Amino acid sequence: MTMSGGAAASIVPKLVDYPEAAPAVEPWPVREKKVCMCHRTLLAAGSLMTLLLLACFVLVRDSASSVAWLQMDVAKLTGMNNGTAGLTTNAPHGRDDLLGGLLPASMDRRSCRSRYESWRYYKYFPYAASRYLQRKLRAYEARHRRCAPGTPLYAKSLEQLRSGRSADGMECTYVVWLPFDGLGNRMLSMVSGFLYALLTDRIFLAALPPDSADLFCEPFPGTTWRLPVDHDFPIEDLVPRGQHIEKSYTRLLYAKVVGPDANATAGVPAYVYLSMGWQLKDPLFFCGEHQLVLAKVNWLLLYSDLYFAQSLYAVAEFQDELRRLFPAKESVSHLLSRYLFHPTNPVWSLTTRYYRSYLASAKRRIGVQIRMFSYGSIPADDMYTQILACSRQEHILPDTAAGGGGGGASDNGVLATRSDDNGDGSNSTAILVASLYADYYERLRSRYYEHPAKGGETVAVFQPSHEERQATDNLAHNQRALAEIYLLSFSEELLTSGRSTFGYVSSNLAGVRPTILLTAYGHKVPEPPCRRAVSMEPCNLTPPLGVECRGKPVDKEDLARHLRVCEDSNDSVKFFD
Ligand code: GDP
Repeated sequence: MTMSGGAAASIVPKLVDYPEAAPAVEPWPVREKKVCMCHRTLLAAGSLMTLLLLACFVLVRDSASSVAWLQMDVAKLTGMNNGTAGLTTNAPHGRDDLLGGLLPASMDRRSCRSRYESWRYYKYFPYAASRYLQRKLRAYEARHRRCAPGTPLYAKSLEQLRSGRSADGMECTYVVWLPFDGLGNRMLSMVSGFLYALLTDRIFLAALPPDSADLFCEPFPGTTWRLPVDHDFPIEDLVPRGQHIEKSYTRLLYAKVVGPDANATAGVPAYVYLSMGWQLKDPLFFCGEHQLVLAKVNWLLLYSDLYFAQSLYAVAEFQDELRRLFPAKESVSHLLSRYLFHPTNPVWSLTTRYYRSYLASAKRRIGVQIRMFSYGSIPADDMYTQILACSRQEHILPDTAAGGGGGGASDNGVLATRSDDNGDGSNSTAILVASLYADYYERLRSRYYEHPAKGGETVAVFQPSHEERQATDNLAHNQRALAEIYLLSFSEELLTSGRSTFGYVSSNLAGVRPTILLTAYGHKVPEPPCRRAVSMEPCNLTPPLGVECRGKPVDKEDLARHLRVCEDSNDSVKFFD
């Protein structure tokens, strides 16, 4: 994105030309892969300074000392986190059932057990919600109660929607989240949409399809976040069939239906789609002057599968508020995900039953999440080799006594004595594998079956499911997927797959900086095999590159301090501190 008022950056980012694939995007899509938008990006990259240029600047600036400060940061995080074996029982620094004031106190415990129980399972509490964020959330909850479906103000807003025009001075305005892509994508776009609602005093409503009907509890006390999409709802076919949406902001702008050139007598349309999926058809959304136009539209329909908090931070009008809400940029999605998402009782039962049966007794839990996108697919043996190479590089999986990788030199086949294993789990590691396939679980399990772990450590490998294919339109499938996201988030350490939102959500819920396996672009095993993440923040896989904004200038130095190129995607950005 171009920062208005700023000089063009002289640093040209190195963009990797990934193979383009273009699957049709269907409503309620089942899509096996994400597509890198580098071709589009390359076309756009010639214009003025972009988020990416800033981020590249940060990467270049930091590269010399990166190892040293990364180690320092990891040490700091570990010190803060001070992981606890099994269930957490003490309660300092947000480690309590309200997560240090992040959650509202007044909700029914039995109807949503996860809300006030999850703190017992999380191992890390690296960030407490600022007082400012707490106040903002409580004020939001009160506003949501006034404006939610079922209230007179909602009825009034619905009437306005029916009229086809937006009105000035409406007390309640809305951002409606629409489902797009898999569960991880959906959770990240919900977090982004909710953040946008917080920043713009809108009400966040979710058009939850049947496949998501029983996944999440209501997040706000005494009200609902569900948009009732019945025959009375004025917009037919609410969920678009693809990202080229007729009523998207940019198309309406070019058609002079909205914006400075619009016919004043025709009025502002009642609603506008924000086409903010991986093709990012509405990049102008991230310009302050367009935010002023959108502020006049009563209903915004958010069609996105992206995490875009970083791009909101690049809007001058939002920057100060975001700074106040989140003094640490790394905490944005961590805190908002823990605030917004609470698995329903059926999902929570799946999750906690599995945890107690297989994971609770271990001293340490390592989550391994393997996602294979078709554009980066490699044979299972190669993927397994990559996992082991990464583990050796970053010292993640327990070493085996007979060699075979996983954390350093072997001890020449000398079997570990059992004396270190106290039989009470005090020297045990549980490895939780999450993947659509059983291949990696089978290999890892055999590894620790056939070879003892060094030092007498007991290693057990578990995989709750192997669904074989993504089936996002199936509620039970999504419930299992959500349970696995939460099981991963109860780990002390995470090894996740690059560019996977499933992995991103697990890490930010966990409060863990994961080690990220790099994608095998061109079906070649990547070298290095993985990188340790500099923050637990998800990557914004499609930032608004090449867009020229004309509004208020943003604090570019601050942006440069807090945005950098993602470890797993060269043309994407993430927050760090
Ligand atoms: P991404 O495609 O990796 O970014 O993650 P998404 O969550 O958006 O989409 C992948 C979908 O495939 C998930 O939501 C699940 O439906 C399914 N899936 C992928 N990996 C797993 C896994 O490890 N376990 C389960 N249960 N489902 C998975």
